[in-house]
Order: sequence, then C-alpha cells, then structure tokens
Amino acid sequence: MKIAIVGNGGREHAIARTLVRSPQVTEVTCIPGNGGTARLERCTNLSLPIDGSDDFQAIANYCLNHSIDLIVIGPEVPLALGITDILQEHNLTVFGPTRAGAQIEASKAWAKTLMQEASIPTATSATFSDKQAALDYLQTQGAPIVVKADGLAAGKGVTVATTLTEAEAAIADAFSGKFGAAGETVVIEEFLRGQEASILALTDGTTIRPLLSAQDRKRIGEGDTGPNTGGMGAYAPAPLITPALSDRITKEILTPAVNALNRRGITYGGVLYAGLMITPAGDPKVIEFNCRFGDPETQAILPLLETPLENLLLATAKGELSQQEITWKPGACACIIAASAGYPGSYDKGFPISGIADAEGQGAMVFEAGTTLKEETPVTDGGRVLGVAAIAPDHQQAFQTAYSALSAINFAGIYYRRDIGAPVGYQNTP
Ligand code: ATP
Repeated sequence: MKIAIVGNGGREHAIARTLVRSPQVTEVTCIPGNGGTARLERCTNLSLPIDGSDDFQAIANYCLNHSIDLIVIGPEVPLALGITDILQEHNLTVFGPTRAGAQIEASKAWAKTLMQEASIPTATSATFSDKQAALDYLQTQGAPIVVKADGLAAGKGVTVATTLTEAEAAIADAFSGKFGAAGETVVIEEFLRGQEASILALTDGTTIRPLLSAQDRKRIGEGDTGPNTGGMGAYAPAPLITPALSDRITKEILTPAVNALNRRGITYGGVLYAGLMITPAGDPKVIEFNCRFGDPETQAILPLLETPLENLLLATAKGELSQQEITWKPGACACIIAASAGYPGSYDKGFPISGIADAEGQGAMVFEAGTTLKEETPVTDGGRVLGVAAIAPDHQQAFQTAYSALSAINFAGIYYRRDIGAPVGYQNTP
C-alpha cells in the first residue's frame, strides 16, 4: 500500500512511523514532511506547498502519477481550504473531511449552531459580527468569560478573560483585523470549570470508533501558566475518562454531532476530535471540535495502537469503518514536547540537535516536529521541535522513561515543561 501524508509536524511523523511498522505499507510520502520523516525507512519527503487551495492540484497530480492508495491529511488549514474535495474529484481515497465538514473546526460559530441543533452539552454562547453588540452583551455577562475569534487563528484567537477589561480588549483585538477574516465574527462564551480531556474518534459518517482518551497541556509555563501553545505535552489514556464517561461522550456528543452533520448533507470522514471540559459534577461539555488528529495527543495515542493504522484509515476513507475494531496495548503513553527558546513568541532556528539516537536507545520514541536536515544532521526549524514519547505499564513510569530519554537530547535553547504528568489531570483556574 502506498500512502501520502500531508503535513510537517510531530503528528505527521507519528502517523508515518506507525504506518511503516506494517509490512503492507510499501511506501510513504510526506508532503512536505520534516527532518524526522526524511530519515524514516520507506518514507520520502516531497516539497509541495499545502496551505493554499491553488496548490492542491499539484498534490493530486503527484498522487495520481504515483498510484497513491490513500492520502492522510494532518493539519486543519488544508482541510478547511477543501483539499479533500479536490483530491476526491480525482477519485483519490482521502482520510479527512471535506471543506463542508471541516467547518466544525474552521468556524466556531458554525460549530456552536450545530451543537445547539443537536442538543450537545457545551458552554452557553452568543455570536457577534458587530463590535458594539459584542461589548454590550459582555456587560450583561460579567467575568470570567471566554472570547473567541470565529475562524482558524492557530490557537491565538481565544482569550480566557478573568476581567471585563481583558474581555473588552480581546473583542477590540478581534475586530481590529488582527486575525484577518477569522476575527470578523466573535463567539463569547461562558467560562467552564473542570478538567480538560481530548476524545478523538474515527468516523466515516456512519460508524464511530473512539480512540484512547488523552489529555494535553497547552500553556507554555509550568503550573499551567503563561500563553497558550500548540501543546507542550500529552498523555493517554486520560485517567479521568472512565468507561462509563466514555460511553456518555459517545452517546451525548459524538453520535449527535455525526447525525447533525448528516442532516446537513455532510458525510463526515476522518477524525472527529472533541475537546472537552469535564465539569466538577462529572459532566462532559464540548469546548471545541477539531476536524483532524490532535498534536501532540496523536503522539501519545498511536504508540499504544495495536491494530494496523493503515487498515483503520483506509476503512474510514472508504466508508467501511464498521468492518474494523480497534485494539490497544495495555498501559499508558506520555509525550513531552521540547521547544525552541522564545516559543510561542519569536525564536531562532538552525541549531543542531543531538542525542536522538541515545533517547531512542532508552526505549523512547522521538517524534520530530520543527526539524529539518542540514548535511544529514537534524537542526531546529520550528517552535515545537520534537516530542519524546514512552510507553509503560502506568503513567508514572511512562513519564519517568520519557523524561529520562529527553535529558539525552540537546539543542541550543531547548525548553520543556517538567510537570507534564504531575499530577496527571489538573483543574483549570480562571
Ligand atoms: P487550539 O488551536 O489549541 O485547539 P483553539 O484556538 O481552537 O485552540 P479552543 O480550544 O476553543 O481554541 O480554546 C483554547 C483553550 O482555551 C482551551 O483548551 C481551554 O483551555 C480554554 N477555553 C476555551 N473555551 C473555554 C471555556 N468556555 N471555558 C474555559 N476554558 C476555555
């Protein structure tokens, strides 16, 4: 089987590594890939742009000319721009929703309406495209409160405001054009208390197969302080997601969401990712939906997967997911992200990375994200540089192995949080 993966992050390296474990996967092409996928056996990088709808035809041409059996789309931007639609027009088999389905992530207002229609538990909210109306509504609500730019803003469009002044500034920011079209509409929503967890499910629009639950840590600083990032670490499964809660999430959230998509004429194929707040009363509420694998949750989930990933992805893409069951290894997986100094602000690139083989020699897996090769040597090339993941019988041992392996890795300015797993599960504060 020949598979192409679109994307260049740690998530895509983890997907590629999981796929090449299987002898039936003969060739993987990463578009554009990173330093990690470049060094992976049976895997090659192809440098094509992926962030503009004008570029998708070149990807389609490559996949047609090389008889690619399956194309897996990693990030949300190409999905929101309709990469799946264009590839499917050429009868290519694609894992990832169409542009219509990707709206569940690409427009928070759209997702909120869908949730209301389907009675999915979520924060109460109101949507505004007029600044004054948004400011007036704010006065009726008080703080803490959450202000979200409607569109994709790489995690930067959300402000959890502890005061009305902060919320007003967030509204002013959004309407100032800072987020471009993504900020022309704003969703203001109730602040939810509790613990966050991520549930990623595969679905072909009929069958839903949840993956192992996970939790990630978004803030840059230890103790969950400082600005949000793409994610500084993750672990799976999430101890707070009991089997009973997992059943409720499928029944109250995933199934109604897929049904509501179908009612809108959208056969959703790919990952439906529910970002949840588990309230102090133990009820799951949706913070957001994403239309793709989470990063770094994927790096903590896939190492525990026993079923060949290609079978699951292909069955999802072909609408045959009912024929697949998913089996998992016992135990837990922890993944810690190492970032460049300065991230999530500005940072320098091009620093040589040492110790990857040593870390893997200790039984960890190193998933590269912002890396590239300079004369065969991996060098830093992004904010989140790599993730070190380890599996073990329990979370504590998984974290021990991952941290010990990570201490073998070095590059100038390396930064990572030392508290990703302690304690496993945390309570947010406004
Ligand atoms: P990402 O790109 O990281 O997925 P996003 O920009 O799509 O993020 P959200 O996931 O909606 O934004 O919000 C980012 C973070 O803000 C959440 O993980 C959560 O910590 C916090 N947050 C969002 N909405 C709420 C809410 N209603 N109550 C409390 N915290 C919230």
